Amino acid sequence: MGIDNLLDGVQVASIVCNQWGDTGKGKFSDYFSEWADVIARGTGGNNAGHTVVVNGEKRVFHLLPAGIVYDSDGKSNILGKGMVIDPKVLSQEMDEILDTGKTINNLMVSRDAHVILDYHIKQDKARYESQSNGGVGSTGRGIGPCYSDKISRRGIRMFEFLDKDILASKISKVKDFYPNQKIDIEKIVEESRPFASRLSHFVRNTDAEMQNFLREGKKVLLEGAQGFLISVEHGTYPYVTPSDCSINGTANGVGISSRRIDLPLGIVKFPFMTRVGGGPFPTELGGIKSEKYCGESGHELQKELEANGINFMGPGEWIKYDSFHPRILKMIKSEDSFVRGVGMRLAAGEYGATTGRPRRIGWTDAVALKYAVGINGPLMILTKADCYSDKGDFEVCYGYDTPNGPTSEFRTDEDFLRSVKPQNKVYEGYGNIGDVRNFNDLPKSLRESIGDLEKFTGGNVAMVSVGAERDATIIR
Ligand code: GDP
Ligand code: MG
Repeated sequence: MGIDNLLDGVQVASIVCNQWGDTGKGKFSDYFSEWADVIARGTGGNNAGHTVVVNGEKRVFHLLPAGIVYDSDGKSNILGKGMVIDPKVLSQEMDEILDTGKTINNLMVSRDAHVILDYHIKQDKARYESQSNGGVGSTGRGIGPCYSDKISRRGIRMFEFLDKDILASKISKVKDFYPNQKIDIEKIVEESRPFASRLSHFVRNTDAEMQNFLREGKKVLLEGAQGFLISVEHGTYPYVTPSDCSINGTANGVGISSRRIDLPLGIVKFPFMTRVGGGPFPTELGGIKSEKYCGESGHELQKELEANGINFMGPGEWIKYDSFHPRILKMIKSEDSFVRGVGMRLAAGEYGATTGRPRRIGWTDAVALKYAVGINGPLMILTKADCYSDKGDFEVCYGYDTPNGPTSEFRTDEDFLRSVKPQNKVYEGYGNIGDVRNFNDLPKSLRESIGDLEKFTGGNVAMVSVGAERDATIIR
């Protein structure tokens, strides 16, 4: 099936991650932005991070939808009411886009989106710093406190932020809830005016705009953020992010019904998956040792390469090394699952896009995926299988052994997830798939595992991504 078949009759598509995030949403948001007239995000804030390539240059955006690079082509980009927005960060990202020679004429920001202010960030940082390993995790950008204020009915929305008197009066009512901070209302209001005046040109009733777009037959892409398993509604609470990262969340957050979504797509890393930050991860290679290790500083990409004697070129995010280095291949074949995990992290380059921190690695968990498919729908996009080319046998988890016997039911609580033992099926390794463009040309063991995955989860794999580039994509 080609992409035209997949998109035949589709007006609204939605893309979310079916795991713990970082599955390649950036690539597919860009892929489907080309098709869409309107690209809308409705959850999270600048705690997200997706990599977009503009004029051959890699850029990481945290707030703006990936479709912003198509503004010059008349495509509208919307930051919906379910988001929390830091005006300073938004303004910076707007400048970054303008610097590339692109436009932001069709950008819209919901008047009802909640605004992140200085005291949210301070509160978040204080909590972040007081957390040792094992905390619920936070990016320290004010997201959590801002959503807390929203739910506690004292949040400040974009239309209120724009008016300095309303803003001052709203902050005076919030102040008492931040007893550890000396909130200087005048200073916050004064310092925020340049951002308010800039953003005022973009603030709209985006709910009404969305309804108009739908009536006009415009094609809409809903862009998810983070991952289903850290959704506040469905994830491994309390190790979650404060928004709903499910397909439903993407619709709610932009003021439309999820019934309007014709093409819900869930991205799945396969045959290995990753998690950032603390929290249960049943299939993790190296278990608790890996969780602790990845939570400490000092294991960033460069450090991990040095520690394992693998030569590399260039500093920071431009580090280049041979992901087929004999030492990496040897680690992946180790008997010690922790070492195996380190090898797979190096082979797949699984380090945070902004922090460089190591991501925890484990085999794809079909039990968790079945749960995700039940809510996000059956259509899946598999990514990063190319990173496991020529790496030997691989595994997929199809059940948990628990103290009360085997189960294939996912539960979100930590005690349960930490008590289970994954039941994995082992498959024969496969060779290079980077150049494959037809599903039937994929190696037999990979097709067999995909078939098992579909049968077990009730899902359908619609696309397989075999590289970071746009054309490295198989459409089934
Ligand atoms: P996101 O947070 O879901 O957008 O994902 P990230 O951008 O944090 O991480 C995904 C990384 O993998 C990005 O650097 C992508 O360019 C890259 N990527 C996406 N899909 C594939 C794939 O199928 N194969 C390979 N090798 N890389 C991919
Ligand atoms: Mg990411």
